[in-house]
Amino acid sequence: MSTYSGMTATTDTDCICDLRSDTFTRPDDAMRKVMASAIVGDDVYGEDPTVNHLEARLADMMGKEAAVFFPTGTQSNLAAIMAHCGRGDEIIVGNEYHTFCDEAAGASVLAGISLNPIKTEAGGEISPVSVAAAIKEDDPHYARSRLLCLENTVGGRVIPIDTIKSATKIAKDNGLSVHLDGARFFHAITDLNCKAKDLADCADSVSLCMSKGLGAPVGSVLVGSRELTAQARRNRKILGGSMRQSGVLAAAALYALDHNIEGLSEDHRRATLLADALKALDVGDVKINSNMLFFTPAPEHHASLHDHMKKSGVMIGGQSPAMRMVLHRDINDESLDTAIKAFQSYYKSL
Ligand SMILES: *Cc1c(COP(=O)(O)O)cnc(C)c1O
Repeated sequence: MSTYSGMTATTDTDCICDLRSDTFTRPDDAMRKVMASAIVGDDVYGEDPTVNHLEARLADMMGKEAAVFFPTGTQSNLAAIMAHCGRGDEIIVGNEYHTFCDEAAGASVLAGISLNPIKTEAGGEISPVSVAAAIKEDDPHYARSRLLCLENTVGGRVIPIDTIKSATKIAKDNGLSVHLDGARFFHAITDLNCKAKDLADCADSVSLCMSKGLGAPVGSVLVGSRELTAQARRNRKILGGSMRQSGVLAAAALYALDHNIEGLSEDHRRATLLADALKALDVGDVKINSNMLFFTPAPEHHASLHDHMKKSGVMIGGQSPAMRMVLHRDINDESLDTAIKAFQSYYKSL
């Protein structure tokens, strides 16, 4: 047995149900098989057929001219933002969006781009009124409003297409471009029951994560116009993200597109099952959005409940006061049942 298989076995026994994030999905045997047999080349020379195939496929699926494969969603977003904006430009972004909160202000640090955070509405969207108020006049005192940066889903909340369009219309009318952080784009179209193109149409560029609910180990893809993606490809080089035989990773993403989109509705179904079980206990507020669930226990129970769940083999993230739980393809009905039983046993023991 190799060192690594030993490590995996230990982790598996300790943790039965990992609800911390859908980033914890691991490639299954079938996915590893296509990775192992992927035809590869040097992608910096544009010669990796599997990467080229993935990019062409997603561009077509999203109704855009071209696509670029990135190591991470953060880099894909940053390269896109840098392609849309120059130094001294400003992006209008939701104050709870990943591009504002969770990407270490990369656009400001590395590209001299100002971030203008706008308070989001309860549904996670930015209202058209807020967009209109945020757009600055052309005045030498001000940064230049250049890009509206959206997200869907937002903390699992699915934003309807009409709602997005009411905000993007204001942006477009004022000459701004629109970028959509679609880390969980496929969860959004699953719940919206629409075609990928219908949602992708709302934005000039869309970043799509392969490594969350879709279950690939690594990778995001940016789609957009030929011109924009060419600039983003250059930015990827600047940011150190151009990879060589990355077809091994693109193969996993292609496998995920073929096999793992359909299962996303199962994640939403299981989130509802867990939510129903928690609501039946009636011990705290329960909110559910696509594959995410937020449970707020009484403050005095937060730490001990967290510990009890961990001892029962159920991992939950550190968020507080609401505990965030994320359903994904490595949680089946059986492991979900372990989580439900652990919640029940905690409250029974009080
Ligand atoms: C995960 C995530 C990203 C990208 O994250 P990486 O870890 O860099 O791949 C971007 N936006 C949102 C909303 C995310 O959840």
